[in-house]
Amino acid sequence: MTTIDARPTTDPLLAALGLRPVINVAGSVSRLGGTTLAPEVREAMAAAATSFIPMVELQAWASEAIAEATGAEAGCVASGAAACLFLASAACLARLDPGVMDRLPDTAGIPNEIAVHRAHRNPYDHAIRAAGATFVEFGYLGPANPGTRRWQLEAVLSERTVAVFYPGAVTAGVLPLAEVADIARARGLPVIVDAAEMVPPVSNLRHFIAEGADLVAHSGGKAVGGPAASGFLAGRRDLILSASAQQQDMYVRPASWPGPQGGDSRDALPDPPQQPIGRIAKVGREEIVGLVVALRRYLAADHGARRARWASLGEQIRGAVNGVGGAAAAVFEDHDVAIVEIAVPGGPTAAARVIARLRERDPRVWAGEEFVDQGAIAINVQHLRDDEVEIVIEQLRHALAAG
Ligand SMILES: *Cc1c(COP(=O)(O)O)cnc(C)c1O
Repeated sequence: MTTIDARPTTDPLLAALGLRPVINVAGSVSRLGGTTLAPEVREAMAAAATSFIPMVELQAWASEAIAEATGAEAGCVASGAAACLFLASAACLARLDPGVMDRLPDTAGIPNEIAVHRAHRNPYDHAIRAAGATFVEFGYLGPANPGTRRWQLEAVLSERTVAVFYPGAVTAGVLPLAEVADIARARGLPVIVDAAEMVPPVSNLRHFIAEGADLVAHSGGKAVGGPAASGFLAGRRDLILSASAQQQDMYVRPASWPGPQGGDSRDALPDPPQQPIGRIAKVGREEIVGLVVALRRYLAADHGARRARWASLGEQIRGAVNGVGGAAAAVFEDHDVAIVEIAVPGGPTAAARVIARLRERDPRVWAGEEFVDQGAIAINVQHLRDDEVEIVIEQLRHALAAG
């Protein structure tokens, strides 16, 4: 399963359209389009694109695949992990009340608070607030943070609280997820986890549900290998049904509506809302089908072989560029992926110049800027194809030698 989808770096069709692809050594980033799609994912999307399927049936089908992959009761697909966080927030605000669904994001006079560690605030939390929720923070930040205590969370929970938000990335000084989930569960409050970039390892598909999270948002277009405009929400069935109902086309007759996900889901919400707020997180059937095929493929992949290939690519690049122009290269691993950190003499200015040079060359090599302030460039090998390795090495050696 480690075969690389061989394509010329300069695609003739894109060239004819006047578009210039880049070689991605920045990782699964949305600004470059997420990830590339395997042939079976593309074929499934093409088949979906030329047929019509009722979206309720598609979401019910995806729900089963997501439940199987994550250990959650149910799931739904939206246009990204951010869209899933937005739907999760809307689901916690409205639960199965069509009256609340109908007024979001207006939450005046109704419970709308989501508790969050101060240390967990991050730029993606716009997605949570956009549904009408307000964050209530607890715990401290900074070098003197002694670590968060249970009573600090308990103190901010009240009848105005609808959920607790907990980003999955390792964060210093926060309460463990399992403890947060215990505290929340005792008050009937769901915990929303942002796991957008938490795979690999593949075990993180199940980890947050197993720790007690009620709704977990994953990106489809990062390591899972699905369409860039896809993400999936896994979690408790009643909350997933709320999220799903708030997202779908609701010009339906209540009498013939099958519920948000068919089957007995109509019992949970017999009178549907009308084009509620989640509609802006709409997803196409191509994305749903592509995401599910990618997810199954990801589960079946040989993760050890992938990791070994990445490690060997990292070592190959490190060996080829170390010392060029005085650069010092080292490899580290982040979420199983090898990243070559190349420190250049001359500090941040020189590092920024090397990155700019790589983007000027043909084909353009797009490296990450996350270490520029430390005077280094980062080469993430996750999306590097076999036929691109030599090009990247040559371009790097050229750019480093030029200083
Ligand atoms: C990428 C990312 C998101 C957004 O995911 P999309 O699938 O691009 O919408 C949210 N949170 C974190 C931590 C991310 O890394």
